[in-house]
Amino acid sequence: MLEVDYLFDGGTPCDVERRRDGSIFCRPFSTVSGTQHFACGVRVSGDADEFPVKLTVAWPRRWRGEDVPVGFEPEIARRMTAPDSFVRVLHRCCVFLPRGGERWERLINVGVDEGSETASVVLSGPGVVATQRPYTWAEHRSLIGWAREQPACVVDEIGRSREGLPIHAVTIAGSDARAPTVWVQAYQHVTEYTGPIVIDAMARRLAAREASEAASRLTWQFVPAVDIGGLRYGVGYHVGPRSSACVRDRNPNRDWHEGTWPEVAAVRSFIEAELEAGRRYGLALDLHNGWDRAHTSGACYTVHPDSAGVDYVNRQRSFVDWMYDHTDHTEPGQYWQHDTAGRSFTSYFAQLTGALAHTVEFSRHLWWERASRSYRPIEPTDPERFVAQAVDAIGGYFDRSHV
Ligand SMILES: [Zn+2]
Repeated sequence: MLEVDYLFDGGTPCDVERRRDGSIFCRPFSTVSGTQHFACGVRVSGDADEFPVKLTVAWPRRWRGEDVPVGFEPEIARRMTAPDSFVRVLHRCCVFLPRGGERWERLINVGVDEGSETASVVLSGPGVVATQRPYTWAEHRSLIGWAREQPACVVDEIGRSREGLPIHAVTIAGSDARAPTVWVQAYQHVTEYTGPIVIDAMARRLAAREASEAASRLTWQFVPAVDIGGLRYGVGYHVGPRSSACVRDRNPNRDWHEGTWPEVAAVRSFIEAELEAGRRYGLALDLHNGWDRAHTSGACYTVHPDSAGVDYVNRQRSFVDWMYDHTDHTEPGQYWQHDTAGRSFTSYFAQLTGALAHTVEFSRHLWWERASRSYRPIEPTDPERFVAQAVDAIGGYFDRSHV
């Protein structure tokens, strides 16, 4: 019997309908249109003779003004009610995890219908279909458990989320005590999975001493998920089949000035205590996923928080240029000003430490191929490829005394 469900780690609530022609129609309903929160992950089970089967994913119903709960900050309300549809990029980023399989594969036969705002795929067997490779709660638990056993890693519980979940920082001390510390955090925003995937690979690479000597001289600190509740509960099913557990009334990345989010306050306290104890930061990367920015791929960077001076902006640009010269994940020149009135993480960090602080936006659907100088659809393994290059590039940057 063919069944479709979303009750698994990484699944998202959907209305599921079996059509008369035998195909499956899914409409995710817990998500908000036009924001970084959109994701769809469903599991199709059944016997071999019930395949192939066609699966169609529809863009979620748009929120209207009256759907937005009272008290939401205007920027969030604007995003929820925005008319954007990113259906047109789903043929580049839908992935499939076959039942019993270990690796996500990019689905190459995804058809997109912009008119009806649907994407369809023909599945040849059972497995999980998602609109991007997720990073699951199980993967997060496994990373923290692994890190606790590594002599190279120190794991700190730096605070608790609003749901009482522990927020962890992993520190990997460098071989040179005088070298600066690199801070890397991710997952301020629900469904922005590339950040934790990148951090997971960075931590394992550094702890296994697979990084360059220059990268190993630096101390690295990672917070894999700032919104840990958002990672645990995803977009809904654990709290209730039709509820939106993690639609947030405030954007955490506009909260660094005030720290009303307990998660933001926890990270701030940890960084401030580290500074107090004498830690010197050289760089911070705050990892995110963008959606349909067709002009950016792989990763792109914000160049300066608000009101940064010319000298700071030039230092930021020199770092980004260095990254473009030493990685092949994106084309040059992808940076812009992040105008958030001083409320973003990067503004907070730069003001506090004087160190470079970049928001890094990973595309969910495009990757830049340096060799062919063109964009191609993202592969599930691209973030790890980025890590292999980026860790050494960052080491090289500090090695050449760019600090
Ligand atoms: Zn984000």
